Amino acid sequence: MAKYTVLYTDRGDYGRGFDLEEPIYAEIDAAIVDARLDHNAIDRAEYARLLATADGLICFRVPVDRQALDAAPRLKVAVRAGVGYENFDLKAFAERGIPACNVPDYGSEEVALHALSSLLALRRRVVFFDQMLRQGKWRGWPGALPIHRLSQQTAGIIGLGRIGQAFASRAKALFGTVLACDPYVDAKVFASAGVERVTLDELLARSDAVTLHVPLTRETHHLIGARELALMKPSAVLANTSRGLVLDQLALARALRTGKLEGAACDVWEHEPADLQHPLLTCANFIASPHIAGNSVEGEADNRIKQAREVVRVLSGQAPRNQVFE
Ligand code: NAD
Repeated sequence: MAKYTVLYTDRGDYGRGFDLEEPIYAEIDAAIVDARLDHNAIDRAEYARLLATADGLICFRVPVDRQALDAAPRLKVAVRAGVGYENFDLKAFAERGIPACNVPDYGSEEVALHALSSLLALRRRVVFFDQMLRQGKWRGWPGALPIHRLSQQTAGIIGLGRIGQAFASRAKALFGTVLACDPYVDAKVFASAGVERVTLDELLARSDAVTLHVPLTRETHHLIGARELALMKPSAVLANTSRGLVLDQLALARALRTGKLEGAACDVWEHEPADLQHPLLTCANFIASPHIAGNSVEGEADNRIKQAREVVRVLSGQAPRNQVFE
């Protein structure tokens, strides 16, 4: 019998064994339990049975709430297998003195590039022309809009954290001007990113391509709604790779349909998995993806190793590296 048990509640798409994790857990004699719970239909009795013996916990979408923590008397650390940690009840963690952690930095480059490639595809109308050609329209495209030179356009970054900064360093090589708004980082960060600091409303009014990189908080819920979309230029495009609920997607569909906004891309959805009847999916000038912006082989390996390292760190008596707080 191993000294510790690490419970993986739901491993997302990894389903590839634990070749990267096993050597790390062997250092402290920890055994892995691979539960594969369905976060949409959790069997609470089964979840509680699994939690009863867990010393460490790694979760993807399964909620770790008060009820779960009450069922986990041995638990010493929980790691959210990614950046966002909306499924953790941080107050309940704090009350019990159990660190809740995340992996904040495994896919910043990937998300920034996904946002940038979506915006470039919209600006260059890559998907539109692909569809036109497949329909036999070599010239004379219905609804074709003018294309503008990118080096004379402005990009706007909402949220200048890890991903926002990764976006900025790449966007500066492509756009004439790069703006950013983030009330929580100081002027030095804007200066070292080489972007102009503006308010949210100014960013929306001036940008030709807007990208969202904020966390989901009470304040950022529907940060971009009908009012904010109305501030944007009708010729602008918008990408959301942050969290679905940061953007009012029905307001976005209305703006696209009525020509108030030229195009948009969403990797994240207000309800996941996305509903195939969602009005956005009937908009021609819209690019959809299934919450995969952070995906790459290297990023996933990095994520898995960092999850296991964090658990081993805490179980062997050290402080966690990436504890998250309310
Ligand atoms: P981060 O914490 O490094 O940066 C977020 C920034 O947003 C911070 O600088 C913060 O000050 C700023 N911010 C907070 N509230 C704001 C507001 N109201 N207005 C403007 N700025 C505000 O986080 P990150 O690693 O850059 O991640 C950004 C987002 O990307 C998160 O929502 C994360 O969940 C998401 N994400 C998505 C994927 C994906 O696959 N689509 C993968 C990884 C991360």
